[in-house]
Amino acid sequence: MDSYKEVIIIGAGIFGISTAIALAQRYPNSKIHVIDRFEPPVPDATSVDTTRCIRVDYKDPIYFKLACESLKKIKDDPIISKFFHQNGMAFTYDGNHDKWESIFLTGKESAEKANANQLDKMVYLNSSNEVFKSIHGENSIPNCKNCLGRETWWNYGYRNLSNGFIDAELSMKAYYERAKTFNNIKFTFNEVDSLQYYPGTKKFKSVLLKNGKSFSSDLVIIAAGAWSGKLVNLQNICTMSAIEVGWFKLTPEECEKWKNMSITTNLSTGINLFPPYKGETKVLRRSPGYKNTIQIENPNPTESNKITISYPRTTISNPSDWMPEEAENIIRENLKEIMPPLYKRPFDRTKLCWLTQTPSANFLIDYHPECENVLLATGGSAHAWKFVPILGDKIVDFMEGNLDPKLVEMWSWNEKIGLTVDNGSAPRMEGKALEMKNVMRNSTKEKGRF
Ligand SMILES: Cc1cc2nc3c(=O)[nH]c(=O)nc-3n(C[C@H](O)[C@H](O)[C@H](O)COP(=O)(O)OP(=O)(O)OC[C@H]3O[C@@H](n4cnc5c(N)ncnc54)[C@H](O)[C@@H]3O)c2cc1C
Repeated sequence: MDSYKEVIIIGAGIFGISTAIALAQRYPNSKIHVIDRFEPPVPDATSVDTTRCIRVDYKDPIYFKLACESLKKIKDDPIISKFFHQNGMAFTYDGNHDKWESIFLTGKESAEKANANQLDKMVYLNSSNEVFKSIHGENSIPNCKNCLGRETWWNYGYRNLSNGFIDAELSMKAYYERAKTFNNIKFTFNEVDSLQYYPGTKKFKSVLLKNGKSFSSDLVIIAAGAWSGKLVNLQNICTMSAIEVGWFKLTPEECEKWKNMSITTNLSTGINLFPPYKGETKVLRRSPGYKNTIQIENPNPTESNKITISYPRTTISNPSDWMPEEAENIIRENLKEIMPPLYKRPFDRTKLCWLTQTPSANFLIDYHPECENVLLATGGSAHAWKFVPILGDKIVDFMEGNLDPKLVEMWSWNEKIGLTVDNGSAPRMEGKALEMKNVMRNSTKEKGRF
C-alpha cells in the first residue's frame, strides 16, 4: 500500500465514496482523486434513489454478520441515522416448496438470530389475510380469490421490525459532504473516456477525461458500477442490466393509513413495496431485467478486437424512457392483490435502475487479471448499498493484504468464473434480460395513463 501515494477512484457511488473515506482516514499522506460524471448525489447512479432497504436477513452467514455490523453503524452514525426509517421489512412468498421457500426460511432464521434478545421485533404472517392486514390494518378485507381470478401469491411471511429503509439520495449527499472534509480527497466531475497504459505494457499510467484532460496516479480503482465495462473488459464476471421501478403519489390519508407498514417484498413474484415516504410510495420488481447492447473497442491494453457489452441507458440520455409494458402488467397484477387502491392508479414516474451483477451475487473486489495497478471495486449485485459503512474499509483491508481470506476468496475474480447459480443474497427471477430498445415506452404517451 505504501507504494500508492496517489490513487484515482472512478465513481462516487457507495463503492467509490466509501473507499475514498477509508483510504483518507488510514493514509493521511496519500492523495485520493475521485472522478465522477456528475457531482454526488449522481442522479442516475445505482446508489442514488428515494429509498434502499437496510436488512440483515441473509441466507449466507457471512453477509448476515456483515449486515448486522453495518446496520449498527448506520444506527450509530449521528448524521446517516437521520435518514434511516425503522419500519421493518416483511418477506413473503406464495407457499410453494421451491427455491423461494428455502431463501425465505434461511432469511427467517437469520432474522430470529439477529432479534434473539428482542423477540417482539419478529411478527409472523401465517396466511394471505395476515399479510394483507399487516399493510392495511386489522379491520381490512382483502380482495376475494374470485375477484382476483387466480390463486393468491402473498400467502406467508414474517416482518423483521429491526430492518428499515434509508433515504439513499440524502445519505449519498451526506457521505459526499463527509468526503469533502478530508483535505487529501479531491473531486473532479467529468466522464473518464479511457484508461491509458505505459506503451507496450499492461501497466496503468493515467485516465483520459472526455474534456481532454488527463490525470496520472499509482493505482486506479474502478468503482464505476454498471458503467465499468467500458473502462475495463469485465468479460462475463459482471453483467449489466436494469430493473424496473415506479412511484405513485399518495393522498395524505393514504400516507397516514400506511405509515406503519414495513417494506413488503414477495420473494416468489419479485415485487418490493415501500412504505409511504415524502407523499409517495415506490414499487420495484427483481425481474430478469433489461439490457442495452453496444459494441466497443476492447478496453484492455493489449487487445485490439471489438467486444459487446450492455451499457447504461438512463433518463439522463433518454429522458422520455418509460417502464416496459410487460413490467407494468406484472406489477399491477400484484397490486391488485396486495395494494388494491394502487391497482389502477397511474405512475407518477418510472425508471430502470442499473445493476452490476456477478454470477454468484458476491461483490468483485480484486485486481484486474490483465491490467497492472487496476483494482476493481464493483459487482454490487443488487444488495451492496447497506454495506456502505464498512465496504470502504474492507476494500482498503484488501489493498493492505489484511482482508479475511474468506472474503478475499468470495469477492475474487476467480470465484466468479464459470458460475451460473447465485447464492441467494439478492435473488433474481429466472429468465433472460430483454433488449431495452425493443421494449421501452415513451413517457409523453404513457405518463398519467391507466
Ligand atoms: C432497483 C435497485 C434496488 C436496490 N435495492 C437495494 C437495497 O434495497 N439494499 C441494498 O443494500 N442494495 C440495493 N441495491 C444495490 C445497490 O444500490 C448497488 O449495489 C450499489 O448502489 C452499487 O453502487 P456502485 O458504487 O457500484 O455504483 P453507482 O452508484 O452506480 O456508482 C458508480 C458511479 O460511477 C460513475 N461513473 C461511471 N462511469 C464513469 C466514467 N466513465 N467516468 C466518471 N464517472 C463514472 C457514475 O456516474 C456513478 O456515479 C439495489 C439496486 C437496484 C438497481
